[in-house]
Amino acid sequence: MSSDHSSCLFCKIVRGEIPSRKVYEDDELLVFHDIHPWAPVHFLMVPKRHIDSLAQVQEADAPLLGRMLALAPKLALQEGCRPYPQGGHRVVINTGAEGGQEVHHLHVHVMGGPRPWLKG
Ligand code: 5GP
Ligand code: ZN
Repeated sequence: MSSDHSSCLFCKIVRGEIPSRKVYEDDELLVFHDIHPWAPVHFLMVPKRHIDSLAQVQEADAPLLGRMLALAPKLALQEGCRPYPQGGHRVVINTGAEGGQEVHHLHVHVMGGPRPWLKG
């Protein structure tokens, strides 16, 4: 893959060239609401450094990935998901074309909130 990420959609969002509804930001991560939510709560967690997908993640990236996963439930609560176990949320990382990945900058989907179409 090219090392020029100037046209990458999520790099543009990280750089502020495309606006987003921000949920959280730190030195390494940006979290923002998905523009086409699939659930009442739906936000995306992206590393600021461009990584194409989960398939390109290296062992050295494990602390970053771990931090993203550990942060997901905290931000889900902050954004209105009810607590585990009655509430909770779904965490999805689409990887590659057959994995449903459309934006090739690693991102973690976090989805939750009351969904009447789910039983239980
Ligand atoms: P993927 O299919 O690659 O896992 O998910 C990409 C996600 O990015 C989709 O859920 C889509 O709605 C979201 N998305 C695409 N373009 C934009 C955008 O310009 N802004 C925001 N906030 N989300 C976007
Ligand atoms: Zn990127």
